[in-house]
Amino acid sequence: MSGSVAERLASVRERVVAACARAGRPVESVTLVAVSKLKPADLIREAYAAGQRDFGENYAQELRDKAAELADLEGLRWHSIGALQTNKVKYVARAAGAFHALDRLEVARELSKRREGAPPLPVYVEVNVGGEATKSGLAPDALGAFLDEVRALPGLQAVGLMALPPPTEDEARARADFQALRELARVHGLPGLSMGTTHDFEWAIEEGATVVRVGTAIFGERALKSP
Ligand SMILES: *Cc1c(COP(=O)(O)O)cnc(C)c1O
Repeated sequence: MSGSVAERLASVRERVVAACARAGRPVESVTLVAVSKLKPADLIREAYAAGQRDFGENYAQELRDKAAELADLEGLRWHSIGALQTNKVKYVARAAGAFHALDRLEVARELSKRREGAPPLPVYVEVNVGGEATKSGLAPDALGAFLDEVRALPGLQAVGLMALPPPTEDEARARADFQALRELARVHGLPGLSMGTTHDFEWAIEEGATVVRVGTAIFGERALKSP
């Protein structure tokens, strides 16, 4: 992939605008989260200079460290988008402006506790709409009971659903997964839909995504995370 971060960001934004137009949706109805996991802070500064404000990180300590290092960037919002172990909740509960991969009650309770005294943390509950190929996320029929518990926690605000279906070239399959998530959000009275990555964010927008999480198309390929 060629070009500077600013150029790639501009091209992703154009694609977001075009997808919104095809779907008859206002462009403000979609938040582009630039997924910066495993990428250095200076690339985040480049994206910020180009006007990007929402950034996504998967790993708790990395989010904590980058939030500290980039604390001078006013208005930057961190989205914690990866699964979290309970003992790492403390690294993101305050630094994050939203949490996207909520699928365990223990994590929900700890997040809520550590948010005390701050505004409630907007959370997206992760659902496994991809079937057996996806390991994380709640089964759709477990969602109702889970949401009841989350909604009772003072430190959290359930705003939407999130999914990371396995990437596929099969457009009909991808759209079916996004439609399934949209229908679940509707049934459970949630306005937010965090779905779509580099691979499929235009389809996701056409199917109703309110948040797309795009990494590679903005920051380039990632090295594999070392254990
Ligand atoms: C890494 C990641 C993304 C971004 O994926 P790209 O293919 O690089 O756009 C989005 N969502 C989640 C949960 C991720 O872990």
